[in-house]
Amino acid sequence: MILLTKFEEFGLAAPILRALTAVGYTNPTPIQAKAIPSILAGRDLLGIAQTGTGKTAAFALPILHLLAGQARKAPRGGCRVLVLSPTRELASQIADSFRTYAQGLNLKVALVFGGVSAGPQLKALAGGIDILVATPGRLIDHIGSGAARLGSTEFLVLDEVDQMLDLGFIKPLRRIVGQLPKQRQNLFFSATMPTEIGALADELLTDPVSVSVAPAATTVERIHQQVLLVDAANKRDLLVGLFADRAMARTIVFTRTKRGADAVARHLAAAGISAAAIHGNKSQNQREMSLASFRAGRVRALVATDIAARGIDVAGVTHVVNFELPEVAENYVHRIGRTARAGADGIAISLCGGAERDLLRNIEKVTRRKIETIDRRQPGRPAAARANPAKEAPPALRSSRQGGKPPATPDRGRAAEPAGTTGGNEMFRLAFMAPRHPAMAGQPDRPDGVPARRKARAV
Ligand code: AMP
Repeated sequence: MILLTKFEEFGLAAPILRALTAVGYTNPTPIQAKAIPSILAGRDLLGIAQTGTGKTAAFALPILHLLAGQARKAPRGGCRVLVLSPTRELASQIADSFRTYAQGLNLKVALVFGGVSAGPQLKALAGGIDILVATPGRLIDHIGSGAARLGSTEFLVLDEVDQMLDLGFIKPLRRIVGQLPKQRQNLFFSATMPTEIGALADELLTDPVSVSVAPAATTVERIHQQVLLVDAANKRDLLVGLFADRAMARTIVFTRTKRGADAVARHLAAAGISAAAIHGNKSQNQREMSLASFRAGRVRALVATDIAARGIDVAGVTHVVNFELPEVAENYVHRIGRTARAGADGIAISLCGGAERDLLRNIEKVTRRKIETIDRRQPGRPAAARANPAKEAPPALRSSRQGGKPPATPDRGRAAEPAGTTGGNEMFRLAFMAPRHPAMAGQPDRPDGVPARRKARAV
C-alpha cells in the first residue's frame, strides 16, 4: 500500500482542508495515512492505536467528508454519527476535535455523558445531532427514557474499546449497538487487541480493513525512563523532593486509587507544590477545572488515576511520575505516553516499593526493555529520620533551592551529579534531558487546596 503524505491527496472537502491548515497540521500521521483512504471508501476499520497517534483525526476527517458529501438532516432524537468513548474527558476531546475540523461545515456536534445535568443533552437530542459523542452509561439512560432513538445512525465509532471493556461497559455497548441499523459503517479502535476484543471486533465489523501503528513498546522510545527503588513509607517525601527540580514544570503523578490521588495531592500542596487531583469521584466541573489549571500551568502536578488520565491530551507534559506502579503492565505504557507528545522529549520516573518488584518485572517484559534503576532505599535508617522533604532532594538540586530563587529557565540537559555521593545506592543522577518550559519558568507555586470531594457517577 502506498501511503499518502499530504492531506490534499486524500480528496477531502475544501472546508476540511482549510480547517487543517488553520490548526497547523501539515502531514498526516501514520494512522491517518493508513486509515483515511479506507474509511473514505466506505470500509469498516479495525484500528490498533493509542491516544497520541492522531487517531481521532484518522476517523473524524473522513467521516466529516462523507457527511458533507451527503447532506441530510440530522434525525430528531438521534444522530448520523455515534462515537462511543470510555471516559468523559476523552469524549470531550473527541467532540472538540470534530468541532475544530468541521468549522467550515454546517454540522451539529453534541456530547452526552454523566455527571452533568441531562437537560441540554435532551434538548440537543430532540433537535437532531449530526455527530453524537457519548459515554455508554448516560446514553443508555437516554435510550431507556426514549429520548435517544438511534435507528438512523450511519456511522458507529468505538474508541478505546479495551478501556470500555475494562470499565465493564460490554453490556451497555451491546445494548446500544442493538439499537443501530444493520446497514452502517463501523470504526473500531483499541490500543490493545486481546482475544476478547478481537472476538468483539469480529462480531461487530464486516470485512474490516485492519490498521495498526507503532506497537506500544516502540512509542515510548523518546521517553527517558527511570525507576527509583524506594521504601514505600518514604514515597511521599521523595516525591516532594523530586519537585525541587524546577524542570518538573508540568507533571502527571499516577496513583493506583482515587483516595491515594487525593492524599498525594494534599501532601504536595502542603509542601508548597501546586497540585490538583483528578479521578472518577470528582464532579465533571472539578475535573475540568483541574485540567484547565494544569493546561494553563497554574498547577505543576496533576495527580491522577489510570482511568481519569486515559485519553487526556495535554501538550508539554514534562514528567510522568508513577507514585505507584500500575497493576496492569500495559497501563505503564499508557501512563508514560502522557509525556513526549508531538515529538517532544519526556521523562518518566517510577517509584518502586519492595512489594512492587514483580510489577516492575512485568513492565520490563511488556516494554521489552530494562529500565534504568537507581536504589534510593536507605537501609538502616528509620523512615522518621527522613521526614524532612528537603533532605530527600538530590544534593545538587537542594543547593539551587537553598540559593533562593529557582533558575529562570531550566537547564537543558544538565546532569546534576551530587557531590560526595556515598556509593552506588546513594547516587541520584538526573541523567536525562530536561525539556524547556519557558512559560513556566519562575512561576510561584500556589499551595492550592484540593477541591472538596463530591460523589459523581464514574460516567
Ligand atoms: P489523538 O491521538 O487523536 O489523541 O491526537 C493526538 C494529538 O495529535 C492531538 O493533539 C492532535 O491535535 C494532534 N494531531 C493529530 N493529527 C495531527 C497531524 N496530522 N499533525 C499534527 N498534529 C496532529
